[in-house]
Amino acid sequence: MTTTTSKTIDECVICREESTKLYQCCSNEADQICELCWSKLISSAMTSGKIGLLFNEKLSCVCCSEPIKRECLPKEIQTRINSILSTVPNTKNPKTIEEFNYSYNKSNELRHCLTNEKFIFLTQRHYNLLGSCIDTYIQSLIKSDPWNYEEIWLPIKDEPTNDHHDQVNIFISNDFKTNENGCLILIQGSGVVRPGQWARSCCINESLDIGSMFPYMAKAKEHNLSVIILNPNQTSYVVVDKPIDTEDAASINKEENAAGEGTNSTNEKQDTTVVNTTSTDTKDNSTDEQILSTSENKDKKEENCDSDDILSFYLSSDPLPRPLTKKISNLSTSREHVLYVYDQIITKSPAKKFYIVAHSAGGDCLMYLLRKRQDKILPNLAKIAFTDSVHSLLPLDSNEIKNFFKANAIHFVASDEPMGKLIDYVYDFSRRPACQEVSAGHPKHEYTSGYSVQGVFQFFFPSDKTQDEDIERIKL
Ligand SMILES: [Zn+2]
Ligand SMILES: [Zn+2]
Ligand SMILES: [Zn+2]
Repeated sequence: MTTTTSKTIDECVICREESTKLYQCCSNEADQICELCWSKLISSAMTSGKIGLLFNEKLSCVCCSEPIKRECLPKEIQTRINSILSTVPNTKNPKTIEEFNYSYNKSNELRHCLTNEKFIFLTQRHYNLLGSCIDTYIQSLIKSDPWNYEEIWLPIKDEPTNDHHDQVNIFISNDFKTNENGCLILIQGSGVVRPGQWARSCCINESLDIGSMFPYMAKAKEHNLSVIILNPNQTSYVVVDKPIDTEDAASINKEENAAGEGTNSTNEKQDTTVVNTTSTDTKDNSTDEQILSTSENKDKKEENCDSDDILSFYLSSDPLPRPLTKKISNLSTSREHVLYVYDQIITKSPAKKFYIVAHSAGGDCLMYLLRKRQDKILPNLAKIAFTDSVHSLLPLDSNEIKNFFKANAIHFVASDEPMGKLIDYVYDFSRRPACQEVSAGHPKHEYTSGYSVQGVFQFFFPSDKTQDEDIERIKL
């Protein structure tokens, strides 16, 4: 269908330039817009995260507010838009970022495999499912060359098992149990972030150099520190205790397994059923088998399932249904998690000195741990670096903690000032912080850990030569 109105030269209603080819993409005949203006309008919908609306016919024309029909847009723009559609996987249970046609390039940035474009936000559902594939991807990097970290499942069970569905995983470097020199403890903030990440949004929109913990792991290696990475946000696991009688129920649960917070991946559930025939927990095992058999049926059905159905699944603005979850015993809150990991794992490290980096709500977890275990921790604690974190000293806190903070803790706060510049509260005594505060070098909270890594290690090891270079590219 052609949308050019007449052979005479007309004006674009937006830029008022004369053009032979104008496009009317809404129901209002007066809204004739040139290709360049359309290109700008669509680009701005992409950068503002509204392009998903176009596919649902909910993106409105800037002139009349009627919905824009995408099949009326200039051909070149349609091609661009179709490349965004190629980031919709052809399954509702994606396992890898490649299924989204995304991958990380050599600069550790997420890019479209075919067009090399940056990530384009489609819907929250699409974003969340991609995000959980990134969780899996980052954890697989942590476990493989050159990092080769060990994955530990908590709570520790009396008998070894391959069934980890009701546990939470943390990671230790392979020298954790032997390195006597020092150990770095990494505690992320609250929310969706899983081991290896400071901020999911930065891993998606910026790069792993900013959003992930790899730069900290690399610096730790340089300074001969072992590393332990906590997982304080995974405090519950998915349970299915009702028999599943419909395919829909199975599909909902499966989807949530891949997407939801506090879940172990569906993969592990399936492995469990295959591997673990000696489980003592028979009730649980049989439920897993039900999931497996129904999801197998589901997969078969999905092959025939038309792509329109999958597309509308990803374009839906409804949140994914919440799965039924149970709290992980002994690790049911972030604070409990940190305490458990300290008592059961960190105390097994032979390191003489401990260094801690805590971001955001991780700071609160750390304060809780210090108060609970100060006599054991303080003697071997070298330094603490907070990155835009939630922590404060209370009047009841011990002098040991207060003095430690004065001498050996630093807080990198979100700020426009250059990284490391002292933030001075000299005129406002009520705001005197618990420890010295310096700029993280970025005004946004989620960027602070990524931007301050050099400063953190200069604080930990002041004898280091100052490095003026940009953030080093690390080899994953
Ligand atoms: Zn125009
Ligand atoms: Zn219009
Ligand atoms: Zn944060």
